[in-house]
Amino acid sequence: METKAVVCFSGGQDSTTCLLYALKRYEKVYAVSFDYGQRHKAELDCAREICAKLNVEHETLDLSLLNQLAPNSLTRSDIEVDEVKPEDGPPNTFVDGRNMVFFTFVAIYAKQRGVRDIITGVSQSDFSGYPDCRDVFIKSLNVSLNLAMEYTFNIITPLMWIDKEETWAMADELGGFDLVRNETLTCYNGIKGDGCGNCPACKLRKRGLVNYLKRRNK
Ligand code: ZN
Repeated sequence: METKAVVCFSGGQDSTTCLLYALKRYEKVYAVSFDYGQRHKAELDCAREICAKLNVEHETLDLSLLNQLAPNSLTRSDIEVDEVKPEDGPPNTFVDGRNMVFFTFVAIYAKQRGVRDIITGVSQSDFSGYPDCRDVFIKSLNVSLNLAMEYTFNIITPLMWIDKEETWAMADELGGFDLVRNETLTCYNGIKGDGCGNCPACKLRKRGLVNYLKRRNK
């Protein structure tokens, strides 16, 4: 039987690395992105372009409902992105329920195609303070999805315990260093590749890249 996986795909560094990881391991790979009213549609364009390049079947699901319920700094231009993580909770880039909602829809999509393996780039290493990126949440949701649909899903998290530097190393090992560096979008200001360099997402990505390049060029 053909091995199959679905990748939760945003077009950013982490999920693109996961897509490369999936393409090495599975015969058929699907990528699913979400339109939840994010400020930068460029993110969805990147996702589409990367999938076209890698010849991956790609679907964008409309979850604008999420923005209707929980407007946040990633969807509204009048809410400033937190520069530093507040002491009393996650930063305002956190969207209540986002991963719970995303994974539920991805699981439905997967089951319809007879796919059990769902791959996601969530990580609790460079800890962003997002509760729904933690391993315990993913494991708990995996159990709930299995029970909800009477089907065995395997949510696979290749990046859970590695930091950005290791994520760059993984992309390189998978032969996708240039693709990830140039074609992905992580920046909160919607700039592809190395990004604006100043937002929290760019800083995190850049720190990992600089460390990885130092190591590689030794
Ligand atoms: Zn940026």
